[in-house]
Amino acid sequence: MIPGPIEFTPEVLAATGQPTTSHVAPSFIAAFGEALERMRQVFGSPSGQPFILAGSGTLAMDSTAANLTEPGDRALVVNTGYFSDRFTAILRRYGAEVTEVKAPRVGDAPSVQQVRRALEMGPFKLMTLTHVDTSTAVRLDVRSLAAIGREHGTLVVVDGVCSVGGEELDQDGWGVDLVLTASQKAVGVPPGLALIMAGPRAIEAFARREAPVGSYYGDWTEWLPIMKAYEARAASYFGTPAVNLVWALRTSLEQIVSEGLTARAARHRRMAGAFRAATGALGLALVPVRPELYASTLTGVYYPESIDATLVGRAAEEGVILAGGLHPEIRTRYFRVGHMGAVTEADIYATVGAIEKALARGGRPGDSGAGLAAAARSLQG
Ligand code: PMP
Repeated sequence: MIPGPIEFTPEVLAATGQPTTSHVAPSFIAAFGEALERMRQVFGSPSGQPFILAGSGTLAMDSTAANLTEPGDRALVVNTGYFSDRFTAILRRYGAEVTEVKAPRVGDAPSVQQVRRALEMGPFKLMTLTHVDTSTAVRLDVRSLAAIGREHGTLVVVDGVCSVGGEELDQDGWGVDLVLTASQKAVGVPPGLALIMAGPRAIEAFARREAPVGSYYGDWTEWLPIMKAYEARAASYFGTPAVNLVWALRTSLEQIVSEGLTARAARHRRMAGAFRAATGALGLALVPVRPELYASTLTGVYYPESIDATLVGRAAEEGVILAGGLHPEIRTRYFRVGHMGAVTEADIYATVGAIEKALARGGRPGDSGAGLAAAARSLQG
């Protein structure tokens, strides 16, 4: 139950384990083409140009920064935690001048007014939003923030590593210029794929650049013709694709589309709601400071008084793997639970049960079963 890599469906694992073919085998070309087409559906971006690269989410961030910024370009990072800090570092590495608008405290998000004021100090070539920051479990209101970004003529870039496939997303409808993600979270594929959906304005900005792209591997000049070729069901080569993971991606995206994007987002909301009902009943405080900031893909929970990170170890002894803290300011004070992808009601019950038991063994017995009862009420309600 960590926020990635998550548990994968048997069909995805079977696709991952099938005999590896050539990257130009007709069956693989067809699978790659289908994966690209399905990405548009899952991101809500009929107008977008998808990229599937072998690498992790950080490569998706790196390639985005490398292709969309030139030395001296100004960028605005809406900072909600650890992964927003990472975007700042990557943009600076490619020579961007980064301004950050920060949350007033850990677990909070910059307000729309704060972001608007920051944009007024522009112009900025691009702004970045971390849809769900995995260090704080804070979800941003991407739709509203993207709208003000657009008003100010900046490219809107969304780090959707912890959101795509779990949270509601309508890239074209919300006016987002680029969404990036990785395979191992709500997209439901073992780690190893960096996914980018670049909208028309992002592609135009890339095409207008004067300086060469500072990354060789991540350069869209090389990858754009490859993605177009696979989508046209033609053979091509720049770097060997992660063949088995692309099979798995095709399978997972098919499962996501057949569940239905609205139904899938609703299932994630329901699971998250049940888990939060349980933590509330157990008297545990959450990292996000307001309900509007609660993510559906993961929850950050403070340890109660007199309990420390040994809770994570005790839950593991009960068979449930939780994640420890990540945000440097509160790292030792909280744990994280991912509830995304193929997560079921049974997973929520098992997790809550393990947390209750771990709390009791840590000397905080409380009202045993209160968390499970609250989760059950939430799931039945
Ligand atoms: N952004 C966010 C929001 C993330 O959660 C992560 C990974 N946890 C990353 C970026 C980086 O992805 P990766 O670890 O796959 O490089």
